[in-house]
Amino acid sequence: MVRPVVDTELCTGCGTCESLCPDVFEVGDDDKSHVINEEGCNGCDCQEAVDSCPEGAISLVE
Ligand code: SF4
Repeated sequence: MVRPVVDTELCTGCGTCESLCPDVFEVGDDDKSHVINEEGCNGCDCQEAVDSCPEGAISLVE
């Protein structure tokens, strides 16, 4: 199973990933996206979030 990881050094908190996969990503008070449910990726296409992140901050790891 793949799980998503956010590089918070790169993330600008734009919210695109949260919009695409709200079960998986949440932009916190620190204006960084955080993975709130790794297994939420099974119910959506996190690859789209990876491809849509303007900073290239999201990775899918095995
Ligand atoms: S799409 Fe990328 S830059 Fe935007 S909030 Fe998500 S991880 Fe951060």
